[in-house]
Amino acid sequence: MNQTRRIQILDPRLANQIAAGEVVERPSSVLKELVENAIDAGSRRIEIDLENGGTRLIKVRDDGHGIDEADLPLALSRHATSKIVSLEELEGVTSLGFRGEALASISSVSRLELASNTADDPAGGWRVVAEGRQMEPRVAPVPHPRGTSVTVRDLFFNTPARRKFLRTEKTEFAHAEEAFRRLALSRYNIGWVLRHNQKTVHQLRPADDNAASERRIAALLGAKFLDNALHIDLEVTGMRLWGWVGLPTHARAQADQQYFFVNGRVVRDRLIAHAVRQAYRDVLFHGRHPVFVLYLDVDPLVVDVNVHPTKHEVRFRDGRLVHDFLFSSLHRALGEVRPRDGSAAPA
Ligand code: ADP
Ligand code: MG
Repeated sequence: MNQTRRIQILDPRLANQIAAGEVVERPSSVLKELVENAIDAGSRRIEIDLENGGTRLIKVRDDGHGIDEADLPLALSRHATSKIVSLEELEGVTSLGFRGEALASISSVSRLELASNTADDPAGGWRVVAEGRQMEPRVAPVPHPRGTSVTVRDLFFNTPARRKFLRTEKTEFAHAEEAFRRLALSRYNIGWVLRHNQKTVHQLRPADDNAASERRIAALLGAKFLDNALHIDLEVTGMRLWGWVGLPTHARAQADQQYFFVNGRVVRDRLIAHAVRQAYRDVLFHGRHPVFVLYLDVDPLVVDVNVHPTKHEVRFRDGRLVHDFLFSSLHRALGEVRPRDGSAAPA
């Protein structure tokens, strides 16, 4: 076929399905996007229901500010967001979302229903349904308490090539639970429920002090985590690093308990990973990985979160400054638990 095809604008549904490839890999990615929206809506309580590892159903219910009836169809449109209106706002963005892509993407590859209410009158809700975006979203009244529920059924029902990549119920649930862990560790002031096939897996009350936060960590990561960790809280001009770092003696064979949050957003960043590795270098046996739950709070203007569609990566304006602050804070904290004779070998 050497006949040139004419250029055409992609059908919006196809464009959304292509975009979905960037952010919707599996049920856990849907969970992350829906919960981030619930967090951005100022929710204090978020409930998540999964069926079949999330492949059959993912439902996220929140008590946030809700969506206006008039905005409901727009919520499912691509490049439609209430979170930023200008480049200036993007540069200082503090919400988790801002791309206006998630609901458009998810609704193009699933059967999605969104119900919401901005008022305290529980009779006054509205819902909108989209099924693989075959039709224009239709809005109809439905009773719903203040807040929003998003129900996503049959992920990838209309994209068989993507559905083939889904794994067993057990594996998909493990990914979803890990996404839940990260989110629940990112907001202590929110109460959470995670259910799988109608069974409660996690129920976490809002934690408003250090002891309550530690109870949450124990519930999510196991009591052993805290028995072998130091609490740190260090501040320099414009930056604060706080959280829990595992003792070198409690290092693991796998890097599977490492949580790092920048301004409440979970990130996997090379610069951060390097600073942590350096700080542990002298005190860790080769091939072992430290555990940590760490929070870096910085001025939003010095960190760029618009690096990747999933926003797992960040770029710091002054990476060196951040690296040095992390390294020196951790190195000092770990130094205090080193043996007095100066030998660095872990016990
Ligand atoms: P983004 O989060 O990048 O703005 P989304 O596609 O995830 O894009 O959501 C589109 C819009 O729908 C959001 O900007 C917000 O206004 C609204 N929205 C989505 N979920 C919720 C929710 N749980 N509560 C309130 N508003 C929501
Ligand atoms: Mg979003």
